[in-house]
Amino acid sequence: MNIPVLQQQVEEWVHWLAAYGADPAGGVTRLLYTASWAEAQQALEQKMKENGLDTYYDEAGNLYGRLASADAEEGTILTGSHVDTVKRGGKYDGAFGIVAGLLALRYLKENYGPPARNIEMVSLCEEEGSRFPLTFWGSTNITGTAPFHKIKQIRDEKGISFVEAMNEAGFGLGRYRNPRREDIVSFIELHIEQGAILERESIPIGIVEQIVGQKRYSISCIGEANHAGTTPMAWRADALRGASEMIVAIMDAADRVGAPLVATAGKIEAEPNVSNVIPNKTTFTLDIRHPQGDALDAFCEASIAACDTIARNRGLRLQVEKQLDARPIDMDAALARRIEAICREQGLSYKRMPSGAGHDAQIMAGQYPSSLIFVPSHRGLSHHPAEYTAEKDLAAGVRVLIQLLYELGYEKEAK
Ligand SMILES: [Zn+2]
Repeated sequence: MNIPVLQQQVEEWVHWLAAYGADPAGGVTRLLYTASWAEAQQALEQKMKENGLDTYYDEAGNLYGRLASADAEEGTILTGSHVDTVKRGGKYDGAFGIVAGLLALRYLKENYGPPARNIEMVSLCEEEGSRFPLTFWGSTNITGTAPFHKIKQIRDEKGISFVEAMNEAGFGLGRYRNPRREDIVSFIELHIEQGAILERESIPIGIVEQIVGQKRYSISCIGEANHAGTTPMAWRADALRGASEMIVAIMDAADRVGAPLVATAGKIEAEPNVSNVIPNKTTFTLDIRHPQGDALDAFCEASIAACDTIARNRGLRLQVEKQLDARPIDMDAALARRIEAICREQGLSYKRMPSGAGHDAQIMAGQYPSSLIFVPSHRGLSHHPAEYTAEKDLAAGVRVLIQLLYELGYEKEAK
């Protein structure tokens, strides 16, 4: 298969989509069910139609473009990513996977006509959790694992409830098809790496083997407030001092274990937070990620044990609250081998790697054989207006996607 370079096309379409929700302060803001989000979905629907795809929405607000097989019994190969962004995000996160899907389906339709299996692209309504405290709303609706109990209570920062916002945008009112899909044969997501590994190693394609497991804790040290001038050092129960020692001990341990483990204490609060009072309470968060579940568990246990020892030595009480426990998710091995073969055929170097960030592919992988393909991110920058991937790298990703969709959708023996 001799796929043209497509560089200019990819660039044009990425910039075209980024105009919907372009933030006057820089970057792109498309929060779920807002006007800019709806405009982007409508523009995409129009572009899908112009390029010969059948379009439809589901009740959650996911937008599909379909290249139908002549055989109605056949399953569906699905590709896509999320259309929502963080506040003042970049042009590529999520959007690239949608643009790539649209370009790929157009190319396949123009050159090969109707496929043997249905091929669809999806613009998933929500992944980031940046308007409401809820993530993966698009993909969990498709897999039938959406937390419907939660959407009745949650509100955005303006006090608008999730259900209200959804209905206002025209969804959740019974106008569209049920989002649940039982016909998907495989799901492919093309996404920017959001890390700097591919760029540093000058490798254009990352084939994700696992999406890392992640545990998140809130850890509180409780001591005793007292006068900063009259309390001798030996008599103090200083909560902030204890918490600092814990953080340093955990980070040092993470350095010793090394990659692919990562540990972050991203947030800290001290009470009473006054310069001349010994802190009586300090709470910090701990985010630990590793692609192997056993290694993740072992490091977390050791970290909590270290906190416990420090707390006892410092006369502090320790409270540990687990806030998140997401297991590592494997991407489909057969699809990864197929992508590897495509990279070799196309003369592209590639790297098998874990993903340190969460993606829709991890939700889909719970139900359908799924694959996540990365292209480099300049300086690893993401969730930032300066997010950038070179056009040649974007185009290489699209060419791999086209070949993969061709093999899965047109060659009947391929599974
Ligand atoms: Zn993303």
